Amino acid sequence: MSLFQCSKCGCGEDTSLCHYWATRLREMAPICSACDPAVGKWHGEFPREPFALRYKREIECWLGQSIEIVGKLSRDQPDGLDKLNRSLDQPPVAERAKLLAHTGEAIE
Ligand SMILES: [Zn+2]
Repeated sequence: MSLFQCSKCGCGEDTSLCHYWATRLREMAPICSACDPAVGKWHGEFPREPFALRYKREIECWLGQSIEIVGKLSRDQPDGLDKLNRSLDQPPVAERAKLLAHTGEAIE
């Protein structure tokens, strides 16, 4: 979905659900389907809401979760990523033992 902000009402609109590109070709400010006299009504594909809110919802949709939750996790567990990186650098003990054993065999 390609969002833009309606130059008239400020809502978040999709470029494919209104006459966005026709407007751009005429070098006019893009407007949403509801503000466009040629359309005159909202398409109803998604709620008509302020651009910032619509944009936030789009990102949440891509992430598959709320931005608040992502923010909260990183605040609550600032070392969470560090721990993950460390565990990736160092395989579990059993794995390391196998690797060492393998290395030993290769040398002999
Ligand atoms: Zn509008």
